[in-house]
Amino acid sequence: MLSTMQDGNLSIANLLRHGSVAHAASEIVTWTGADARRSTFAEVGRNSARLANALRGLGVTGDQRVGTFMWNNAEHMVAYCAIPSMGAVLHTLNIRLFPDQLVYIANHAEDRVILVDGTLGPMLAKHLPSMTTVEHVIVTGGDAGVLEAPHGVEVHSYDELLAAQPDVFDWPDIDERSAAAMCYTSGTTGDPKGVVYSHRSIWLHSMQVCMSDSMRLAQGDTALAIVPMFHAMSWGLPYAALMVGASLVMPDRFLQPGPIAEILAAERPAFAAAVPAIWQGLLQHLEAHPQDISHLREVIIGGSAAPPSLMHAFEERYGVPVLHAWGMTETSPLGSVARPPARTTGRERWAYRYTQGRFPASVRARLVGETGAELPWDNESVGELEVRGPWIAESYYGGADVDPEKFRDGWLRTGDVGTISPDGFLTLTDRTKDVIKSGGEWISSVGLENHVMSHPAVVEAAVIGVPDEKWDERPLVAVVVAEGQQVTAGELREFLTDKVARWQMPEQWTFVDEVPKTSVGKFDKKRLRTSYSQGELDVTRA
Ligand code: ADP
Repeated sequence: MLSTMQDGNLSIANLLRHGSVAHAASEIVTWTGADARRSTFAEVGRNSARLANALRGLGVTGDQRVGTFMWNNAEHMVAYCAIPSMGAVLHTLNIRLFPDQLVYIANHAEDRVILVDGTLGPMLAKHLPSMTTVEHVIVTGGDAGVLEAPHGVEVHSYDELLAAQPDVFDWPDIDERSAAAMCYTSGTTGDPKGVVYSHRSIWLHSMQVCMSDSMRLAQGDTALAIVPMFHAMSWGLPYAALMVGASLVMPDRFLQPGPIAEILAAERPAFAAAVPAIWQGLLQHLEAHPQDISHLREVIIGGSAAPPSLMHAFEERYGVPVLHAWGMTETSPLGSVARPPARTTGRERWAYRYTQGRFPASVRARLVGETGAELPWDNESVGELEVRGPWIAESYYGGADVDPEKFRDGWLRTGDVGTISPDGFLTLTDRTKDVIKSGGEWISSVGLENHVMSHPAVVEAAVIGVPDEKWDERPLVAVVVAEGQQVTAGELREFLTDKVARWQMPEQWTFVDEVPKTSVGKFDKKRLRTSYSQGELDVTRA
């Protein structure tokens, strides 16, 4: 029997229509370095119509791709709204990719137009000659002259282009399963892989972001979106904000701890989302320049494991609870969120909060062992996490032949390794490529890192496996010591004695100024392994 219910497309155009009318006064606040410029959702709606008219005028039709090479700001928000709503596909270009990867993804997605921040214009200009499908570049933030384009590419000023356009657009009704936006991820091998989100997947994901057991974004909230709009869709905050009328504060290019502290003081957001490296930096800044941040109802940390020491520091020193979440580009990105069961208190509650969290009803999860067998949710069996659901990728752009080993029988193989508790809380111990195999046993690099980072003199610690004749691999710890503090490898080992099993205790240590980071601020263990194998690290044996 079929239902008697109506069917309607869940689309970004509907989100935009709703947000710009029902929440007309909510704001996108863009930091300018000294203060902020403000744009209401009503203005975002009008500017989205102008941008869509302008793009049509430049010949963008159907599902052609329009790239953005931008910071988090009001203009990027307009691009997020206008491009999918007109039926085209938003392609967020990660400004921190290596040049050849950047060129590869623009060509692979066949971007016809790229919107670029004036401040990033010169950087894009270097690569434009190799981006063979780009016909137009639209420069925001004033002077289009900052960008010298190669022959055949027209450069436009965003402001001038939009000023000449009507502020209404007849948004088409779009099949909810069609592409709305795309984002490239590193994948397991070779070139970056395109993840293509549908209108439907974005809509459902936005609802999840707002749910009370999830990120709890709501009308009347102001959220500081530090997570970049050029990577993993800023964790879904832009579209979720439109859905419920939450205001967003966008840091633009001001991502250092000092400016973030100024933004917090000026805008007093209720919540903020970023990777651990950003929060670690802010904490150090706050130590030297104390400031009340109790306006933050919650800080959301994900993208890599949130060390418990970081969570305790926020809560105990600043009265700000930390919410730990897990996700990836292929999961839109919200996967699991660590809100502990309501009945828990004290240490038990903390133990739940350290985990990567519980999956929402829409996302199914399973753990698969080395033989391919599904493992029990007993908090002990360690396997690779696989997920499926309406906002999880089924393949990469280009079809089933692209990196097929990432998918198995309709499940996404996450490449993350860990356990799941009987009540569905995920604890990640590693990524498959970072697992340390010592004497036939696995040592969790994440577990060791968290223990080392709980030492008061340690700011950051990254653990990699290095070859060992007897044990195959042993852990090597790269440590960043806090300014003005001192600690030796021997002292750190002593500190770990009651925390890790003897066979897991690292013998090799290196003290570094900084742990190398990936384009999105995660520990770059590949680079650390290369430095080690090339003998560039000064290793102490203790
Ligand atoms: P990449 O890091 O490969 O560029 P993504 O940005 O999509 O790709 O990152 C997804 C990965 O980040 C996950 O597969 C996982 O390894 C890691 N990750 C995300 N959130 C967490 C978390 N809370 N704890 C541990 N690892 C996490």
